[in-house]
Amino acid sequence: MSQDYYILKTLNMEDENIHFYKEFVNEEFINGKRCLVFKAYLTYIPEYCPKCGTCYDEKIKKHGFKNSLIKVPSVSKLNTYLSLNKQRYHCHHCNKTFTCATNIVNYGCNISNNTKHSISFDLTKKVSEKDISINNNVSTNTVERVIDSYFELDSKVYKNTLPQALSFDEFKSVKSADGAMSFQVCNAKNRKIIDIVEDRKLNNLMKYFSRYSRQSRMNVKIIVIDMYTPYISLIKTMFPNASIVIDKFHLIELISRSLNKTRIKLMKKDKDNYNKLKRYWKNILKPRFELNSSSWKKYPCFKNLTTEQDIVDYLVSLDSEFEETYQIYQDLLYAFQNNNLSVLETTLNTKYNNISEYMKTSIKTLKGYLEYIKNTFTTSYHNGYVEGNNNFIKVLKRIAFGFRSFTRFKARIMICKGLITPKQKEVENLAFSTS
Ligand SMILES: [Zn+2]
Repeated sequence: MSQDYYILKTLNMEDENIHFYKEFVNEEFINGKRCLVFKAYLTYIPEYCPKCGTCYDEKIKKHGFKNSLIKVPSVSKLNTYLSLNKQRYHCHHCNKTFTCATNIVNYGCNISNNTKHSISFDLTKKVSEKDISINNNVSTNTVERVIDSYFELDSKVYKNTLPQALSFDEFKSVKSADGAMSFQVCNAKNRKIIDIVEDRKLNNLMKYFSRYSRQSRMNVKIIVIDMYTPYISLIKTMFPNASIVIDKFHLIELISRSLNKTRIKLMKKDKDNYNKLKRYWKNILKPRFELNSSSWKKYPCFKNLTTEQDIVDYLVSLDSEFEETYQIYQDLLYAFQNNNLSVLETTLNTKYNNISEYMKTSIKTLKGYLEYIKNTFTTSYHNGYVEGNNNFIKVLKRIAFGFRSFTRFKARIMICKGLITPKQKEVENLAFSTS
């Protein structure tokens, strides 16, 4: 095997018409940075003149070289270039000149196709566009052009089939987006994001889902949502066959929040027990039967040896309103955790005089959604994994120090989650200008 073969292998290129000079690599300073420059020439005998189409004969003559400096992926962490002398020909049939072509770089472009692939690979990782541009020795504009080449967002993500079970959730969007909250729709079965919509307002979502055929919308049987009223009217119009399931996590969160608010209200009133109420908030939220009542220990803020259960009993007995609210919280928690509909209904329908306003509001909300909470108890679908997606989105946003455009933000999420893959040809065919 020749030297050319091994150097091309090292640079991950394939073109047998490229030949390296004897001193094939050099260290140079380009734009003030130490770089590696590989030196090669490209030559072959063309089959025909690309300008007039005449077959090769003695009237097509060699006409010197044209040099171009091509960016290639870095070698040993150094910015790397390929200084390529391309053979030029002069065709005496049409009196025009032309240059030899190669597959490692497109015509009129100084960024190698390998670099473009490397950028699209980096885009799948949790790094900012700025870092990708530095790693690949290109401008951020180039990185953005690679993102844009992935897809025309709206048309290609769109599919005409919807899975049987869906999850709806929202997340805090970027500043440039139309709404403060963006909307994500996921497949509840395989837990993959189907699409992201800029704004979760009702009319916007109606418009979005009307792109799917009626047949595919009729096919949806279950939709898991949180307690956001517009979703319900959306589902009733757009998904007539779907049964609504309220996510259990959000139900428990609702009652925990109202118990916490009640506790804080008491904390402000009862300064003597402020520290105790503050310190043991987690124990108060715990299901009662999970509290330890047998191991006696020394707990901070308590003088004598005591148990977890005694602590909670003490704190709850401080105030009658808090005590009653706590009881209802425990009943509801039990009902949610054990899918016990009868306990839930009895708790919700009992008259209470002495519970906090916060819990009253929550009970009212739960009563309003009771019809759908029944579905929660009979299915195993939930939105827990969506929180993971939301976390991921948050990290991505942090790393990028925010996104200026929602479209690119969405593109990055979809690329990182592997929901869209680049079309090799499209990445290669990007029109990059020679600078
Ligand atoms: Zn010609």
